[in-house]
Amino acid sequence: RPVIHWFRRDLRISDNTALFHASRCSQPVIPVYFLSSWKKKHFWTGANRQHFLCGSLASLSKNLETIGGTLTIREGGAIAELEKLIHETKATAIYFNRDPDPFGRRMEQELSDLCSKLGVECYGHDDIALHNPEEIKTQSGTPYKVFTPYYNNWKSLEKPSPHPKPRVLNTPKGVTSMDLPSVKHWDLEPPEAKIPQAGEKAATERMNHAISGIIGSYGKRRDLPAEEGTSRLSQDLRHGLISIRTLYKKVAEKMNSSDPATKGSLEIYLKELAWREFYFAILHHFPDVLTHEFNADWHGLPWDEPGENFQLWKEGRTGFPLVDAGMRQLLKTGFMHNRVRMITAMFLTKDLHIDWKLGESWFMQHLTDGEIASNNGGWQWSAGTGADAAPYFRIQNPWSQTAKYDAEGIYIKRWIPELKNVDPKKFQKPPEGGTALASGYPLPCVDHKTERERTLATFKNYKKI
Ligand code: FAD
Repeated sequence: RPVIHWFRRDLRISDNTALFHASRCSQPVIPVYFLSSWKKKHFWTGANRQHFLCGSLASLSKNLETIGGTLTIREGGAIAELEKLIHETKATAIYFNRDPDPFGRRMEQELSDLCSKLGVECYGHDDIALHNPEEIKTQSGTPYKVFTPYYNNWKSLEKPSPHPKPRVLNTPKGVTSMDLPSVKHWDLEPPEAKIPQAGEKAATERMNHAISGIIGSYGKRRDLPAEEGTSRLSQDLRHGLISIRTLYKKVAEKMNSSDPATKGSLEIYLKELAWREFYFAILHHFPDVLTHEFNADWHGLPWDEPGENFQLWKEGRTGFPLVDAGMRQLLKTGFMHNRVRMITAMFLTKDLHIDWKLGESWFMQHLTDGEIASNNGGWQWSAGTGADAAPYFRIQNPWSQTAKYDAEGIYIKRWIPELKNVDPKKFQKPPEGGTALASGYPLPCVDHKTERERTLATFKNYKKI
């Protein structure tokens, strides 16, 4: 009798914890993926990520064949579908990797109940992070709310090693499966954005490319959005196309043979990987962050109705060149540089006074790397409401941020062609005399100084209540 490996966000065969264990149980393995059945518009996802998912499933299906596996794809609620599959195939066990968000965890609880009812073994594994949120706590056993002590603890722990290749799966014939899906499955149009190539092979190439070059100078270049200065692995970590253990091992090996400057860069890189796990931990311990401000001081903070300015922000037409460049990069590529994510998010919340939850959702609908925990963490950080967030009075000035991070306007000109002949110095302050920077490019939709004052007053007065 077979066992089932339930693929979720671990769409690879190498160094996949649950798949590795399933393949060693001496029974045939049925690898299965369940497509969600929502149609058309969805509050938390969109065409870019769904398209990337489809490409990754196609690649996974081929890869599985190389180890005697056949991918089954079905549509519907995972738990109900798993129950049907168990009855159909007489499977004796289910293997899966645990999910970091509350929706996934709820399903795991339902699955565990179902397995107890049916007398089927249920094996959940940790795979997505180097450390499980329960593993890293303060001395008094409470979750960390601040990054630095979390990170010091994270850093001090031994890291898990990658798993060897899975064994042959010997998937039994005749399990019915849908064809490989396309975005049409959800009544979505193929994305207009130019997104990275999907699948484990492309992701592994990106990882090797990043390790052999980019991340060696990460410390110096990671904040410059015009440069190729970051690893661009977020969509691959998000969909489990690469393993965090393998990535960590490669970085650690490189560290051993590096000069001090490169070593410093690699350390900064590892710290970013720890931020990812810090936000997983925050979401794990405080799932209410999805509906409320993490910091109770700011629960129920008032926001403006999202009117015309929200539309301008989404389209990259606010008249603030760096903000608009970021928003257009997002629309054109399904990605935005981290520094610019912070700037656009802070602009939405502090200059336009629009609820971070609306920005959070817009990002989730467009980012190929849309990750519930990191996105929520990034938004609440920028809004000044999150765990270890920027304090509310540290409001970035989009003009001086431009001077600091895109002084030559290279990033801005890349994404806003109307501005290609404009002197980049003009991107660093509000346009003088009410004259637009170029024909077809709007004047700033607000005055930063005025809006900054309003935000400071709002937060200050709110805290007193
Ligand atoms: P690198 O700089 O090369 O970093 C390596 C990896 O570390 C990333 O791939 C990512 O997995 C992780 N990482 C880096 N920075 C952070 C961070 N600040 N928080 C958490 N993880 C981090 N990241 C997502 O993966 N998905 C999101 O939906 C997401 N939304 C964000 C929203 C806002 C408002 C902000 C400010 C940040 C958000 N981030 C998100 C974090 C960060 O912007 C991206 O991880 C990063 O830009 C991805 O590019 P990279 O792979 O080249 O990163």
